[in-house]
Amino acid sequence: MSWSAALTKALPLLHTLERLGHEAVFVGGCVRDTLLGRALKDVDIATSAEPEAVIAAFPHTIPTGLQHGTVTVVHEKETYEVTTFRTESDYERFRRPTQVQFVKNLDADLMRRDFTMNSMAMRADGSIHDPFGGQRDLRGGLLRCVGDPDARLQEDALRIVRAVRFASGFNLRIAARTWRAIMRHRHLLAHIAMERIGLELDKMVGGSDPGRAAAYLAASGILSETKEALPRPLAEMSERYQARRKLRRGRSGETPAAAKAEAEEESRAMAAIQAIAELNGLEDRWAAVCCALGFRSGQAAELFEALRYSSVRTVQAAAAVAIHQTMVTRDSLNEDTRRNWIAQILRHGKPAAMQWLRVIEAVTALSPSSESGYADQLDEWLQGMQASTIKELAIKGNDLIALRQEPSGPWLGKLLGELLHAVALGELPNEKEALLRAAAIQRPVDEGEYT
Ligand code: ATP
Ligand code: MG
Repeated sequence: MSWSAALTKALPLLHTLERLGHEAVFVGGCVRDTLLGRALKDVDIATSAEPEAVIAAFPHTIPTGLQHGTVTVVHEKETYEVTTFRTESDYERFRRPTQVQFVKNLDADLMRRDFTMNSMAMRADGSIHDPFGGQRDLRGGLLRCVGDPDARLQEDALRIVRAVRFASGFNLRIAARTWRAIMRHRHLLAHIAMERIGLELDKMVGGSDPGRAAAYLAASGILSETKEALPRPLAEMSERYQARRKLRRGRSGETPAAAKAEAEEESRAMAAIQAIAELNGLEDRWAAVCCALGFRSGQAAELFEALRYSSVRTVQAAAAVAIHQTMVTRDSLNEDTRRNWIAQILRHGKPAAMQWLRVIEAVTALSPSSESGYADQLDEWLQGMQASTIKELAIKGNDLIALRQEPSGPWLGKLLGELLHAVALGELPNEKEALLRAAAIQRPVDEGEYT
């Protein structure tokens, strides 16, 4: 195994603690990722030293979570979480422990961790301490709870979602007993804060295999168990998945036609979600997921709000879905499609329109048309727009006020909107003279008249 630069850089922290007579190891994700040859996100350290001793050992520390034993050590501009070996107890209502006890024993610390592959430690000499068979499970492609899965998932139900996230991100099967425990205890997700579900879903959507995550989410039905209900297409993913399974086994029950339609829709959505791995950006991927699941734009906003995502993200996703809803029926490249497309760009903005174009280019199943060059043509129309916001017009509100010799009022925004529309469609050049001429002959419109 080769030492990454990140581990080498953190090595002096282990040496310092060891020199003071403490035990200190790399632990968790950085050990797992080193064994797999993956890039490290962060380097976490576990030690027998208590927090005060850690603070005393280093010149620059931040008391991040003292009650849980975590001190952040700043070393050569990097930060490291150094956590005292601990056990946990008194899990409060199926989520995070209310009490931790500091212990001197590394194995006790590793035992409180969630999965075997996350419960390995690495010493300063590079040797791996792996009491629960994490390396064996990684070789066998298995995600397995440390110890009794029923107990572990009941202690902290977030582990149910983490299991799906890790299984999809690391291309692992979930061990049979762990899977059965997920199915038995998935209702406990009702105790987990929506924000934490949101963080996990972001990692699944942004991860290496979102299609696999979707398949696990559908098969487990865990998204119907969250504290706050998620929009129907997501919550019902598992019902559709079950319909497809039954159909495949020739047990479609009494309404084969309905079951067949559901099953087909499910396969289409799953295939589309698999293809989102082609997209680089997290937000592009989310927009594609919402389109693939057949969301209405209100549902995209509902989902993002439930997951406590920022309002910027919410607005963007809702816009991409709204564009999709409108454009999905415009499958031929004619004047009607062009006008609709430009109206969508004006309403939702260029960034949302460009995002939607990226989505249909990467996930061809979502494209309204199989015609080659469809997205290219829409892109050309978009790039050809002389203005897409009122700010970009070659005329200002004051020019129109002077022209009309009327005080500013609602008429002004409407007139600017009409001029923008005409410029965007290429019916007027974006030039001051032409715009003033057009504004002069335009009859002033009443409140109710312009729609
Ligand atoms: P990532 O690559 O996402 O950072 P990670 O394994 O480092 O993966 P973290 O959430 O950063 O995951 O947690 C660090 C370590 O803490 C994990 O490897 C695991 O050992 C332990 N851990 C984190 N969350 C839990 C939990 N809910 N239950 C048990 N152990 C946990
Ligand atoms: Mg981590």
